[in-house]
Amino acid sequence: MADTLLFNPRTYDPAHFDQETRRLLRATVDWFESRGKRKLIEDYRTRAWLADFIAFAAEEGLFATFLTPASEGEPGQGKRWDTARIAALNEIFGFYGLDYWYAWQVTVLGLGPVWQSDNAAARARAAELLAQGEVFAFGLSEKAHGADIYSTDMLLEPEGDGGFRARGSKYYIGNGNAAGLVSVFGRRTDVEGPDGYVFFAADSRHPAYHLVQNVVDSSKYVSEFRLDDYPVGPEDVLHTGRAAFDAALNTVNVGKFNLCTASIGICEHAMYEAVTHAHNRMLYGRPVTAFPHVRRELTDAYVRLVGMKLFSDRAVDYFRSAGPDDRRYLLFNPMTKMKVTTEGEKVIDLLWDVIAAKGFEKDTYFAQAAVEIRGLPKLEGTVHVNLALILKFMRNHLLNPAEYAPVPTRLDAADDVFLFRQGPARGLGSVRFHDWRPVFDAYAHLPNVGRFREQADVLCEFVATAAPDEEQSRDLDLLLAVGQLFALVVHGQLILEQAGLTSPDEDVLDELFAVLVRDFSAHAVELHGKNSATPQQQRWALDAVRRSVVDDGRSARVWERVESLAGTYEMKP
Ligand SMILES: Cc1cc2nc3c(=O)[nH]c(=O)nc-3n(C[C@H](O)[C@H](O)[C@H](O)COP(=O)(O)OP(=O)(O)OC[C@H]3O[C@@H](n4cnc5c(N)ncnc54)[C@H](O)[C@@H]3O)c2cc1C
Repeated sequence: MADTLLFNPRTYDPAHFDQETRRLLRATVDWFESRGKRKLIEDYRTRAWLADFIAFAAEEGLFATFLTPASEGEPGQGKRWDTARIAALNEIFGFYGLDYWYAWQVTVLGLGPVWQSDNAAARARAAELLAQGEVFAFGLSEKAHGADIYSTDMLLEPEGDGGFRARGSKYYIGNGNAAGLVSVFGRRTDVEGPDGYVFFAADSRHPAYHLVQNVVDSSKYVSEFRLDDYPVGPEDVLHTGRAAFDAALNTVNVGKFNLCTASIGICEHAMYEAVTHAHNRMLYGRPVTAFPHVRRELTDAYVRLVGMKLFSDRAVDYFRSAGPDDRRYLLFNPMTKMKVTTEGEKVIDLLWDVIAAKGFEKDTYFAQAAVEIRGLPKLEGTVHVNLALILKFMRNHLLNPAEYAPVPTRLDAADDVFLFRQGPARGLGSVRFHDWRPVFDAYAHLPNVGRFREQADVLCEFVATAAPDEEQSRDLDLLLAVGQLFALVVHGQLILEQAGLTSPDEDVLDELFAVLVRDFSAHAVELHGKNSATPQQQRWALDAVRRSVVDDGRSARVWERVESLAGTYEMKP
C-alpha cells in the first residue's frame, strides 16, 4: 500500500486542485515517466540542455498557466499565481531532477520584477512570451559581489529620452543562454545611492547581449553575460530607485519559497531508491534493514522528511494569506529556505550512510540527489543570511504574541496578488505572531512534543534573561547558534499546526519530535561551546539538553511504515 505522506508517481492524483491544474501536474509526471530513467540520467550525466523539457512545457502551456497572474491572462484560461499548485509542481520537478526545477525556478525569479512593475507594456510582453513558451532569467548576482547586492557594477548611462545605455556583466544567471526576457538589476551613473537603482528587461537575443559562458558544469545553464552599450528604452524600465531594490528582495522572497518543495521532491525519490535497495540487500544471511542502526537511520530520514512536508504545506497557507497586516510569512519563508533544505541534506546523508556504495552508481537517481541536495541551502541567500533574517523575529515570536484570525488550509484556486505588492522590505522587527504555545498544548499527550515544549520554554527564558548583550549582538557566530534553536521551535510549531489540519499518524509525529528534541540538545551544546558565550549562557545551554522519550513499540510501528516503502516505486526505465 502506498504511503499517503509521500509523493508517489504511481498513485499521484492531486484531486484537491481544479481539473486543469490536476491535468497539468499529472501530465508533467507522465512526461518524465514516459521519457524514462535512462534518458533522465543520461541527460544529467552529459549535461544536455533542457530543450525537450522546455518544449513539453511550452506545448502544455505549463509555465504560462502557473506563472501568469490572473490579471495578465484572459478569463477562462486558468492562469493565476497560486502558491499551492506552484509548490506541488516544485516537488515534482525536484523528484525528477534539480536541473528541470532550476529552469523553472529562474523563470519564476525573472518574472518577479516584471509582475511587480507598474510598466503595463512590459507585463503584457512577459505574458505574451510566457504564452509562447519562453523561459525567463533573473540578473541580480555579479561575480565580485555575492550577497552584497548594494554594490552593483551594471551601469546605466541616461540617454535623455527616459532610456539608458547599459554596460556591465552579470554572473550566475540561470537561463541566461535562452531567456526571452532577462530582468537585470543595475544603477544609474548620474544618481548616487539607492535612488540610482534600476531594474530593466533585456532580451538575451539582442546583439548587445553577449553570452560569455556557463559558469557551472551542469544541464543548468548558469550564465555569465555582458551588456555592451545595451539600449534600455523607457518601455524596458521595470523599477527605479528604492523600488528597484525592494523588487529584488521581494522577488527573492517569492522565489526562495520554491526551494523547500524542490528539496522534498529530491528526498522522496532518493528515499524510495534507498529503502528498496537496503531492504533487498542481504548481508550475513539477513537484509541490511535488520541492523538496528540502519532502522534508526532510515526511520530518522523518514520522519525528518515528513516534518519537511508538514512544515512546508503549512507555510503555503501563511504565504497565501499574507497581506500588509499579516507579514508572518516573512519568518516562515526563510524557514522554508534554510531549515527545510538543511533537513533535506540530513535526509540524504542518513540514506547515503545506509546505502553506501549504491549511492555512487551511475544508474541511480540517488547519485544526483546526493550532489544536488547541497545546492538548495546555498542558493538565494545562504543559511547564514536566512538565519540572520530569522533572528530579527525571535523576540516578538517567542515573547510577544498577538491575536490573528485563524489561517485555514489554502488550496483554493486564488491568485496570490499580494506577493507582487509586498511593499518596502523593511520593519521586520515589528512583525507580530500568533501565540506558538496552544498548538503545542494540543499535542501535549505526545511525550516528545511535551519534551520539546520544555526546551522551547527554556529558550524563552534565555531570550528574556540571558539574551546576547550589545557587544555579543555583533558576534554572528554566537547569534547563529541561537538562531538554530529558535528555528527549531518555529519548525515544530508549523509541523503541529499542519498535523492539526491533516491528522497524520501520531506515532510518526512523536518519533519526529524525538528527533527534534535531540536536535535541540545538539544545538544547545553547540551554543555552550561558543567562544563568547557567558557563564550564564553556558549554564542555560546545558540545562536545555533533554533526552527524548523512548518507546520501542512506537519506533517499531514507524519502522514498519518505512519498510513498507520498499518496492512501492521505481522509475520506469
Ligand atoms: C547554481 C547557481 C545558480 C544561481 N542562479 C542565480 C540566478 O539565476 N540569478 C542570480 O541573480 N543569482 C544566482 N546565483 C547566485 C547566488 O544566489 C549567490 O551566489 C548566493 O546568494 C550566495 O552568494 P555567494 O556565493 O557569492 O556568497 P557570498 O555572498 O560571497 O557570501 C560569502 C559568505 O558570507 C556570508 N554572508 C554574506 N552576507 C551575509 C549576511 N548579510 N549575513 C550573514 N552572512 C552573510 C555567506 O553566508 C557566506 O558564508 C546562483 C548561484 C549558483 C551557484
